[in-house]
Amino acid sequence: MSEYDVVIVGGGPAGLAAALYTARLNLKTVILDRGPLGGQLLNTELVEDYPGFDSILGSELAMKMGEHARRFGVDVRDFEPVKEIEVEGDTKIIRLETGEELRTSALIMAAGGLPRYLEVPGEKELAGRGVSYCAVCDGAFFKGQELAVIGGGDAAVEEGEFLTRYASKVYVVHRRSELRAQPILVDRARANPKIEFIFDAHVKEIAGDQKVHSIRYEQHGENKELRVGGVFIFIGFVPNSSLLKVHVDHDAAGYLLTDRNMQTSVEGIWAVGDVRAQLTKQIATAVGDGTTAAVAASQYISALKDSARA
Ligand code: NAP
Repeated sequence: MSEYDVVIVGGGPAGLAAALYTARLNLKTVILDRGPLGGQLLNTELVEDYPGFDSILGSELAMKMGEHARRFGVDVRDFEPVKEIEVEGDTKIIRLETGEELRTSALIMAAGGLPRYLEVPGEKELAGRGVSYCAVCDGAFFKGQELAVIGGGDAAVEEGEFLTRYASKVYVVHRRSELRAQPILVDRARANPKIEFIFDAHVKEIAGDQKVHSIRYEQHGENKELRVGGVFIFIGFVPNSSLLKVHVDHDAAGYLLTDRNMQTSVEGIWAVGDVRAQLTKQIATAVGDGTTAAVAASQYISALKDSARA
């Protein structure tokens, strides 16, 4: 069993910013991630909306943020999946998949989320055989092929555009006639001759044998089929809040609710970044959340120490 002043679960921008600040505040800090550091940054080719960087590779920004936190003495434990989190009095117990236990009074949940599944026949069966949730990871396997991207938000439009560097054509298939994505991303996609939008299209099936060969969808009451070599699904995100075995208030979709200091309904647990209920999921807001939670956690730890001394 190891004890820390602060345990941070999740090594994306929110967790790394929190770690940088708690370490600089001289708090013994560990950051845990089930994979490499970077979170959603690793699924992003180019970041063009983080102040100070006109354009930077997501992987490079992840590396820089990781190095920055390490420089201040954060104990970085990547590839270290958390199994569950329990609370006993003021102590939060973080159980790792390895069986090890970490203890802390201050837990910062920065665990992000996982892609939402379309939940149609063929999706699970053909995952990794033409069905993907990461353009940066898998795009290069589809050189010269026609692809479908499912979704109408920032991720679908931005990743669809990214995929045109490999694909001969990208169909962005959206269930409504209006996109949710930011206008700047939509304008760029509309100007790209390799992108075609298919609206009011409800995907019913991903078809294929050994590999994807088409999607079947319903549009205005008609059943249609589109021949494609791959399907990239970007229909949102499911927060990783279920690691918490104690009840923490959340919204209907499972996003954790916080006050303005990122404090959840449980004292000593803060939520930051994509696992938190908020207006938007941007790198800049994640970093802001992490910073706020770190300062709030530091004040909480000082108050606990003061009351223990009194
Ligand atoms: P999102 O904004 O929640 O959009 C999800 C899209 O998928 C929506 O268009 C939605 O349709 C559609 N959808 C949801 N469930 C569906 C289903 N079962 N079947 C078919 N379509 C479905 O998710 P996101 O695009 O992953 O973005 C998540 C967050 O990250 C957002 O806050 C976004 O701003 C941010 N982000 C930002 C950038 C950037 O700034 N460059 C890039 C990527 C992501 P409806 O529109 O009909 O609801």
